[in-house]
Amino acid sequence: MKIARSNEELHSILASFKQNNQSAVIGFVPTMGALHQGHISLIKSAKEQSDMVVCSVFVNPTQFNDASDLEKYPRQEKKDIDLLEKNECDVLFLPQVQDIYPNGVPDYQINLDGLDQVMEGKFRTGHFEGVCMVVERLFRLVNPNKAFFGIKDFQQVSIINYMVKVRKLDVQIIACPIKRDENGLALSSRNQRLNEDEKKAALILFSTISVGKQAFIDGKSVKEAYQLMSDEFNKGSLKLEYLEIVDNSTLQEVDTFNENQSICIAAYCGEVRLIDNIQLGKYS
Ligand code: AMP
Repeated sequence: MKIARSNEELHSILASFKQNNQSAVIGFVPTMGALHQGHISLIKSAKEQSDMVVCSVFVNPTQFNDASDLEKYPRQEKKDIDLLEKNECDVLFLPQVQDIYPNGVPDYQINLDGLDQVMEGKFRTGHFEGVCMVVERLFRLVNPNKAFFGIKDFQQVSIINYMVKVRKLDVQIIACPIKRDENGLALSSRNQRLNEDEKKAALILFSTISVGKQAFIDGKSVKEAYQLMSDEFNKGSLKLEYLEIVDNSTLQEVDTFNENQSICIAAYCGEVRLIDNIQLGKYS
């Protein structure tokens, strides 16, 4: 695996690759590191669907609205390199802040048609602007044909798809399924900050949204589903931020069920903020 620690190094690796394979498909997996099998599932999908896989690890300061969250975000470069090497990633891009924001934080504006005003957007002001800012910048540096994102960050996938459309970026977005541990906990870099008791307590996220999906399958109403989910969630000890049944396209809450919807949840487990979601039908 080649490692690029600056824009120049990345540019030269990509240029020499493209010189030999002009029609080669570049698959890109942007991450913030502290890699786990969720990230690796994206690398595997990228390997299956591209000729060269580029992964970036960059803890993007502009998407954190809480300074202590940014500071506590796990960083483990050596482990990340080993894991990517083991999984045959071709290029790892490890930029510095000045590579991504050479002139400081840009005056970046994007109208996300309200997709950024709900759920995560309500609790993390400016988060999605920061995400779009860094992803658009990374896309311009890597110039991938395909980019792979996890449905774990369901709202992010919708927003990136929207951004690609309005910015007319020539990249195909591939949404990949959520990887969970054997108990159902969605893998996340933040799970490292949970102790053993908290890891058990965190399972209430998946059990809550699973109860909601079962209610849909059983033909119950949205109102009944909310009641059942609330009963389930309240058996645990987490602090809820939101629990919403939303339309996959608009991300707005719904009052009747159909297959093009998802149930999304965010809650604090101790000091760690966790998110999860489940699709009622096939995600497309
Ligand atoms: P992050 O490093 O948290 O910014 O995540 C980088 C990418 O990995 C994003 O597209 C995430 O949605 C994806 N990802 C994170 N956790 C998982 C998971 N458990 N399953 C699948 N994809 C994931």
